Amino acid sequence: MPQMLYADVIVDISIENLDRPYQYIIPHDMEEEIKIGTPVIIPFGRGNRKINGYVIGISEKPKFDINRLKSIESIPKTGLSATQVIISLAYWMKEYYGSTMNEALKTTMPVKKKVRQAEKKSVVLRADDKSAEELLCTLSAKKNAAARVRLLEELIKAKNLDYSYVRKELNISASTLDLLKKQQVIDIESARMYRMPYTDMGTEDERPVLNAQQKEAADAVVKGYYEHTYKRFLLHGVTGSGKTEVYMAVIEKVIADNRQVIMLIPEIALTYQTVQRFYRRFRDRVSILNSRMSAGERYDQYERIKKGEADIIIGPRSALFAPFERLGLIIIDEEHEDSYKSEAPPRYHAREVASQLAKIHNAVLLLGSATPSVDTYYKTQPDYPYEDKIIKYELTKRIEGASMPDVTVVDMRKELKNKNYSMLSLALRDKIKERLEKKEQVMLFINRRGYTGFVSCRNCGESIKCPNCDISLTVHHSKGEDKMMCHMCGYETKTVIRCPKCSSSYIGGFGAGTQKVEELIESTFPNAGVLRMDADTTSKKGGHEKILAAFAGHEADILIGTQMIVKGHDFPKVTLVGILAADMTLHISDFRSSEKTFELLVQAAGRAGRGRLKGEVVVQTYRPEHYAVACAAAQDYKSFYKQEIAYRKIMKYPPASYMMTLFVSSDSEKLSLDIMNVSYDTADNIVKGRSDTVLIGPAKHPVFKANNMYRYLMHVKTDNLLAAEGIRKAVCGAAEKEFAGYKYIMQFDMQ
Ligand code: ADP
Ligand code: ZN
Ligand code: ZN
Repeated sequence: MPQMLYADVIVDISIENLDRPYQYIIPHDMEEEIKIGTPVIIPFGRGNRKINGYVIGISEKPKFDINRLKSIESIPKTGLSATQVIISLAYWMKEYYGSTMNEALKTTMPVKKKVRQAEKKSVVLRADDKSAEELLCTLSAKKNAAARVRLLEELIKAKNLDYSYVRKELNISASTLDLLKKQQVIDIESARMYRMPYTDMGTEDERPVLNAQQKEAADAVVKGYYEHTYKRFLLHGVTGSGKTEVYMAVIEKVIADNRQVIMLIPEIALTYQTVQRFYRRFRDRVSILNSRMSAGERYDQYERIKKGEADIIIGPRSALFAPFERLGLIIIDEEHEDSYKSEAPPRYHAREVASQLAKIHNAVLLLGSATPSVDTYYKTQPDYPYEDKIIKYELTKRIEGASMPDVTVVDMRKELKNKNYSMLSLALRDKIKERLEKKEQVMLFINRRGYTGFVSCRNCGESIKCPNCDISLTVHHSKGEDKMMCHMCGYETKTVIRCPKCSSSYIGGFGAGTQKVEELIESTFPNAGVLRMDADTTSKKGGHEKILAAFAGHEADILIGTQMIVKGHDFPKVTLVGILAADMTLHISDFRSSEKTFELLVQAAGRAGRGRLKGEVVVQTYRPEHYAVACAAAQDYKSFYKQEIAYRKIMKYPPASYMMTLFVSSDSEKLSLDIMNVSYDTADNIVKGRSDTVLIGPAKHPVFKANNMYRYLMHVKTDNLLAAEGIRKAVCGAAEKEFAGYKYIMQFDMQ
């Protein structure tokens, strides 16, 4: 008998039911057609009622006695359903990122929580005007009828009153309403109301005519869209160059063609300002998702989509999983943003999932950024070795009226030599003073990200790097001893007290946070109004928007913040942006540290001079010669890219190669290490004799012990995706065999 195949089928699309799929036999004649995501009709329950389900897994082993298994009945002939797309997408994520199918489905499935539907209740006048007036007359003469009089007076005027207004403001009891209802004087009506996160849409200003570059880009994307095949575009344009207008022009064509649009915006930029612009153009065709929304609000948005009431969804990366069946376009604005990458398995990147989703729908993916990720830009280049090239368009100028700011680079090593030990250079201090006198505004950006465990020299600007990986080492204190470690490969060395390059003893971590800067600014400029925005001041709901609104209203002269203040928002009165410790991000132990630095500096500089007043930027740095700093100061993306991609190619870092990371954790340090060693040996056996793949590590995780779990990691760098997959499967298999019965977690990342 030929080998049988079995399908795991879920009958109700909800997260709660994922853990209990039903197993069915796949009849031989359906084997070809049934894939993960395929809708099926199955006999269910005692009566073998025919119901619909979806296949979420296929295996060669039955989980129960084969004689008790039923067979799939048939495959319904329907178009591509949203659920089918989501399940196939989840399957792709599982395979590509190395998560479990359950993790993938839990990420992609809509929350199907029973939430009470919001209703808009109102009290309406049922009696005609004449009898209502008569009743009012009668009641006015009575005692004990004050409430009814109050209500009738208002109701005769308005005909229709909000229920809660009647109850609370007019103070009418439910029994009074009941009585009037019985007497057929009033009715209580309720209409299903969708919870809209923003309601006041306003009217749209006159629509600008696209300039030549905008038109060229929009036309190309629209033309690509009409071909109805999968395509990808990059719109590279400085902030304020009119990218959003291009997006909206393309969206308009796509929805006019009766297809749907997903527009991703980083969570932090999903502000009233941004969203309002889309509402004004597309009115209630727009649906919004954000993480501050309640489960009910999210559910409502999905319902609107399913009913075809909205065809544009705007949201963070999770908006990719909105239940669209006729998706035509996906836009990812600020595509370089870190928030597009998930840090929980499946550790997916929205860009890659969007590509896959666009492929399924034969749709177009449009990426936009002022500082495209190196990953994306690489795919637009002539030397990109694969088929799936991205077509690039550029917007090189800011829309008229706003010019690019002047940038001054201050070498902080010289300040040190001139005995200025402050975090503020003399130049920046003078320029702030000048703005305060002119009643203009200043933004101070402190580039502080990740941890401060690196060691750098304030005299020469160097940080101590791993000889193997060319990324910064991190300081660790353990057992009374300081060590410097590489989190890529595990290299360790003793902490230095003098700079190995210039012998200076001004070496150590850089500890300044926003609070310290705030104190310094307040003591230097006692008359200035200062606002601070960081994780501490924005933890409350809406804290973020409140601070920005206060600053926009010129309630303060100086805004101090972390990378949070870099995003979105136009402040026309900001004419000076100061960037303190511009090179700080260069020291994070990540092969993307230069990219992150360049990106932050360009984005921060882009905040200056957004209005008619000319802007100026001061970049304070210990490494003015580093290409990430120098290219950012010159606003020169292309030379930055050239140098950065050369480094990635030499070191075989993504996007020049694939990098798969294995994370192992358990509550025993020894067990974690044992599993890691077995994994390494298993992988090493495969890698031996391959020239396209290397292993790095194992190493301790940057946060070695967290939640009582000990964590190790190792990396696989390879030019061959299949090799990575092979290693992953072998490693999982070996661990399952050797450590059966032990409790541990094994996770993968792929980039
Ligand atoms: P980006 O998304 O690149 O930051 P926007 O699309 O927000 O740029 O454009 C910046 C500003 O210029 C907006 O106020 C926008 O309305 C305006 N704008 C965009 N394109 C044009 C145009 N072709 N003519 C006039 N104003 C424009
Ligand atoms: Zn030095
Ligand atoms: Zn290393």
